[in-house]
Amino acid sequence: MKAEYRTKSRYAIIEYLRENSDKRFTAKDIADALSADGSDINRSTIYRNLERLCLEGKLVRYKESDINATCYQYSEGHEACNRHIHAQCSCCGKIYHLNNELFKSAEKKLISDYGLYIDYGKTVIIGLCEECKKASIT
Ligand SMILES: [Zn+2]
Ligand SMILES: [Zn+2]
Repeated sequence: MKAEYRTKSRYAIIEYLRENSDKRFTAKDIADALSADGSDINRSTIYRNLERLCLEGKLVRYKESDINATCYQYSEGHEACNRHIHAQCSCCGKIYHLNNELFKSAEKKLISDYGLYIDYGKTVIIGLCEECKKASIT
């Protein structure tokens, strides 16, 4: 019974994030949306599931500085999100899943010059996407 509840919660969370994979959510957003849908999943279950899905690489997790909250976004059609660097548009929030190959030479330099090893899964580069850049000029 308990395991079934757990599976159902997990499924509901994944389904919700997958249907809205172009958006980012805080844990609170997800809790509110699910309870508006009539679900009775409690908040700590949601947090636990989100943590697990991040570890499994099914979700991207990043800190959103403008709202000072941790956000989650479903990652579809990508390799595990816990193993590559992400970039984000600081204006519209769009997430990019980057190819680690881009950073191979930078990584070598970081290690040799600074003794620093990149944590790919936790690194987010902030930039401005082409559309937002255009909009900011015109
Ligand atoms: Zn990713
Ligand atoms: Zn943008």
